[in-house]
Amino acid sequence: MSDQVHHAPRVGVTRSITLLGATGSIGKSTLEVIALHPQYSVFALTANNNVAQLLEQCLRFAPRYAVMVDEPAAEELARALARHGSATRVLAGPQGLSEVASHPEVDTVMAAIVGAAGLTSALAAVQHSKKVLLANKEALVMAGDLFMEALAQSQAVLLPIDSEHNAVFQCLPPSSRSCADALPAQGVRRIVLTASGGPFREWPLEQLLAVTPEQACKHPNWSMGRKISVDSASMMNKGLEVIEACFLFGVGPQLVDVLIHPQSIVHSMVEYADGSVLAQMGSPDMRIPIAHCLAWPQRIASGAAFLDLTRQSALQFFTPDLERFPCLRLGMEAARAGGTAPTILNAANEVAVDAFLKGESGFTAIPAIIEQTLAQMTCRKAESVDMIRQVDEQARALARRLIDRR
Ligand code: NAD
Ligand code: MG
Repeated sequence: MSDQVHHAPRVGVTRSITLLGATGSIGKSTLEVIALHPQYSVFALTANNNVAQLLEQCLRFAPRYAVMVDEPAAEELARALARHGSATRVLAGPQGLSEVASHPEVDTVMAAIVGAAGLTSALAAVQHSKKVLLANKEALVMAGDLFMEALAQSQAVLLPIDSEHNAVFQCLPPSSRSCADALPAQGVRRIVLTASGGPFREWPLEQLLAVTPEQACKHPNWSMGRKISVDSASMMNKGLEVIEACFLFGVGPQLVDVLIHPQSIVHSMVEYADGSVLAQMGSPDMRIPIAHCLAWPQRIASGAAFLDLTRQSALQFFTPDLERFPCLRLGMEAARAGGTAPTILNAANEVAVDAFLKGESGFTAIPAIIEQTLAQMTCRKAESVDMIRQVDEQARALARRLIDRR
């Protein structure tokens, strides 16, 4: 309880936010929500190399700092900002990400970088006891044990942006955050993550061999970055989310089920021992979980459309087909194996998805590469972040070799 009172945003008090991954899909949605509410001020915006987009955002939100990971892009941004008479200071390189994530004047950090590149800065935010809004699920998948340990040793508050985990968070007993008992002792029987099934849910299996990046990135319900769109099409996204749920909520994978729900209206559910099922519903719009986390434990407008259930087509639920979606099976297996298995899974997936998006290998090669990488590496206990980085690098190198050999 004291946790909640301590972190409640008081009306009239400005919250200072660092937005990691500002130019991405989650980053842009976050700025849309922030623009609706003057009590939030932007302390820092970061991006990999998109100068035009970050420039526009800096001119509109006037952050103290802008971080550009790519050094030449940082120089270009600094020149452009100077031409506009902007007071925003530009930092270059990946160390700038952790600097703005841990700065003493920042209270809230949105971790919305895609992939393993977001781990260091998200971890820095946790270690510096920020309110951390976590979109970057790969950070938790690759280093979940260490990430949650760092959380326990800090005063940080971790809030899930991923719509399914945000839904689960909303459906869990409010006391679960301050209660030392595991969820089953609090009457939770299982967590049910929903999945749209992506664009290929009903395609004939043999057609999946010829899938193009454009087809994979055309999600039926959500508009997202390209990597997560491919993950959604392969259902690796749900595999990563099973692992994410285990770490976030401190449960074993046997307590996490997945149901295909093509309408993406029920964002996930929690089933209790008495047979009650609590679900969180809403339009498929990431501004809803973003607004929920920004204001938590209060509520603010998100700008998303309100749900009209009378106009909504029937809500359907199906068991996922693990033959159609081998990536989901691999994700569930890695969740059960624990240790560095999720690290290897994540690294191989990032490499295989990148190769697919560049036209270097096919869509069905993604699970094949991941499965071979996992089979050829030994899964160990995750001892330190340095060890995780080494395993991540080894898995990437191996996955790359496997792609080149195909
Ligand atoms: P995106 O590709 O649209 O944006 C990625 C952002 O990360 C960009 O700002 C980019 O500049 C930055 N970035 C990329 N590589 C980087 C690097 N090496 N170093 C520093 N910054 C780098 O991605 P997105 O769809 O916004 O997803 C972001 C994260 O949120 C992912 O982890 C994704 O799984 C998660 N997520 C996204 C959605 C969604 O609806 N888009 C939903 C749930 C979870
Ligand atoms: Mg999700």
